[in-house]
Amino acid sequence: MNIKISEAVREAKIMIEPVAQEEALQQAKIFVATIAGIDVGALSIHADMILLDEQLSDLGDMVKRRLTGEPVQYILGEWEFYGLPFYVDERVLIPRQDTELLVETAIQMIRERGYHTCLDLCTGSGCVGISIAKNSEVQMTASDISKDAIDLATENAERNEAIVTFLESDLFQGIGGKFDLIVCNPPYLTLDDMQSLQPELKFEPKLALYGGGDGLDYYRKIAWEYKRHLNENGTLLLEIGNTQASTAAALFDAKTSVLKDLCGNTRVLVVEG
Ligand code: GLN
Repeated sequence: MNIKISEAVREAKIMIEPVAQEEALQQAKIFVATIAGIDVGALSIHADMILLDEQLSDLGDMVKRRLTGEPVQYILGEWEFYGLPFYVDERVLIPRQDTELLVETAIQMIRERGYHTCLDLCTGSGCVGISIAKNSEVQMTASDISKDAIDLATENAERNEAIVTFLESDLFQGIGGKFDLIVCNPPYLTLDDMQSLQPELKFEPKLALYGGGDGLDYYRKIAWEYKRHLNENGTLLLEIGNTQASTAAALFDAKTSVLKDLCGNTRVLVVEG
């Protein structure tokens, strides 16, 4: 078969349109660029390049997986977050751009407040802790209840040459000692959210998404315990859902403030220690 890159993009787009909708063209480009081994940005320069049968067969496999609703990130097996590459698969939540606010805020606080130690609770793929560690001098510890997540996060730290100590722990249960900064993107979807999940989210671990009926279970547990693990003048930074700012803040007996992401949604709760 003599199929050119431009034709492959067009065909893949048409095929994945029922699930990918308005993102079909972009996702088709990502798939074709991946199987052709070139950057998405270079596709048009290579528009007339003929693809090998082997490459077309890999493209067919990707399209088939996408048609089941599987997210692009799991199909590729990696995704970028905060400008760094991370392996991702069904063991962990896919890194979201929204979460970059948590990372930016942490890096800024480490600089401004001279923090030396940081704990990333519920680290998942490791994207938050690793991005902070790569962009500061902080000593990073990261934990997760899931051994599978810790295994993948460890690979991600190696891939990014970041120095992070990983611990398997249910929130603070296995954590000793105190930190200057604690960051956490806990599961916070509500029961209603879980019942109306987009098809892609059904591929992600429920453990990493579901925060109990009102989505606040993990904030309650953290509010109960965090003071024992925070140094004096330390800070706790929590990602929150866009309707949870006041209910989450009310759980903390401390000075709190809320930061908005680029879409104008409340996204980070700052709890002063
Ligand atoms: N922000 C994610 C979403 O809306 C949820 C992540 C989480 O529960 N921490 O899909």
